[in-house]
Amino acid sequence: MAWSSFSPDQVAALTQGSSFFAEPGERECPACGEHRVRAYVSSPENARRPTLVSYVWCAACLRFVGTRARHPEGVVFSDPVAALPAAERRELEGSLIGFLAHLDRLWDDGVLPQSFATA
Ligand SMILES: [Zn+2]
Repeated sequence: MAWSSFSPDQVAALTQGSSFFAEPGERECPACGEHRVRAYVSSPENARRPTLVSYVWCAACLRFVGTRARHPEGVVFSDPVAALPAAERRELEGSLIGFLAHLDRLWDDGVLPQSFATA
């Protein structure tokens, strides 16, 4: 199966319900109905203002969406991907599909989901 994008309607459906910060576990996929939707967020250090980059994907049907938003005030989280050497991370992020596959493996390995806290 190949990776593809969530449709705009599916993206809208993903934003319903409790926030990923409150319940970071898997949730139901608006495309295939499996309870396999996963997410990873990061906060790029080089952004001009506090930015939150989110990757949301379904481990069952391989649909995904990436978004950038303002970093919600006071939300802090661990970033297991940030522990990678910069060169390795650049290489991973150079290919979105490769990066998503890496995130999915981290989830299977129990490294993801991240834990969130409100400062
Ligand atoms: Zn799905």
